[in-house]
Amino acid sequence: MKIFVVNCGSSSIKYQLINMENETVLAKGMVERIGMEGSLLKHTPTGKYTVDLPEDIPDHAVGIKMIISALVNPEYGVIKDMSDIDAVGHRVVHGGERFADSVLITQDVLKGIEACAEIAPLHNPPNLHGINACMEIMPTTPQVAVFDTAFHQTLPKVAYLYGLPYELYVKYGLRRYGFHGTSHKYVAQVAASMMQEHMTDLRIITCHLGNGASITAIKYGKSIDTSMGYTPLEGLIMGTRSGEIDPAIIPFLMEKENMTAPQIDDYLNRRSGILGISGLSSDFRDLESAANRGDERSQLAIDLFAYKVKKYIGGYVAAMGGVDAIVFTAGVGENSPFMRDKICNGLEYLGTRIDPERNKVRGKAQEISVKRANVKIFVIPTNEELVIARDTFNICKRIIKL
Ligand code: ADP
Repeated sequence: MKIFVVNCGSSSIKYQLINMENETVLAKGMVERIGMEGSLLKHTPTGKYTVDLPEDIPDHAVGIKMIISALVNPEYGVIKDMSDIDAVGHRVVHGGERFADSVLITQDVLKGIEACAEIAPLHNPPNLHGINACMEIMPTTPQVAVFDTAFHQTLPKVAYLYGLPYELYVKYGLRRYGFHGTSHKYVAQVAASMMQEHMTDLRIITCHLGNGASITAIKYGKSIDTSMGYTPLEGLIMGTRSGEIDPAIIPFLMEKENMTAPQIDDYLNRRSGILGISGLSSDFRDLESAANRGDERSQLAIDLFAYKVKKYIGGYVAAMGGVDAIVFTAGVGENSPFMRDKICNGLEYLGTRIDPERNKVRGKAQEISVKRANVKIFVIPTNEELVIARDTFNICKRIIKL
């Protein structure tokens, strides 16, 4: 079975075509700058060169059509015909309280995703554009929605409610939802299999540290707490996002800096975080080299980030009554031995320590704790596309004749 995995952002479409017989990627790529000047499709058939296809791409429907044409192209395509695509798996950011698992998309499900757009106005509408485009182009091909929030639907009320009047939760669904769910679930599953255990027997803390960053406490297979909240702005300090701040800062800024609500939103989402602290960059690579040259604010940004991550790890150990494994994933988690070391330095009281030799690993699944550590520490590259493809496969194998 061949699964087309689609991840639509506001001006981009990332995709992979995955052959589920051996879970290999046949082709992948990205449409960039939708609706803008300079829009193009970058398409890479596995093992071959990347082709750049610049074209006017006014909307997601045109982008999807271009991707399909590339996939069936006689020169750089990987399938003969569009009918070779057995199912489509869509990443959907927000599933609200309605979707606790991946689902086959029906008209009713579409309405449910539309309803969630109210709490995710930036993310769900582009996801819907992608779904609608694929349903129009491939009307008989089953489509599945895989939600970023679904894995966190097991959070108990004590973890997901804010200290606000309860009526606001009832009226608007104002609560913590959590994000990066597919990534947290995937790396926890891989960690359990590397330990030759079942996830349901383990307490795992997963640290997804990329541009956007979140940490999850997974107790016996279920997410019981996670650092992102109603939106992905809550929790850790991130590349450009502030993470948690005292909410009283918002009216203060409105008054003192004469800022409007959209301006504050922009400030907290795009101009804060390690970019705001360092005044230099949102990229940890830049900060590491600047700090090595003696730049104090870059060093401060690094220190703040590592401190926050460590505090969350400690908090989640308390929430779960212990921990069996800590996992690092995403851009920073997979590639920065320096940051992993800094975060874990001081966690010896848990019965664990990083092995400096093992910690040199980048972008490969490996245990990095010392031998016989009570708590294992892992680096595990995330693979959200594979989770989407697997869920799509599992849902569709029942309805598709193989
Ligand atoms: P996202 O998907 O949230 O945009 P990624 O998971 O791709 O982010 O992570 C991107 C971040 O990873 C970059 O901003 C950079 O800070 C960090 N990163 C990537 N490689 C390295 C590295 N070798 N050392 C330190 N940080 C790195």
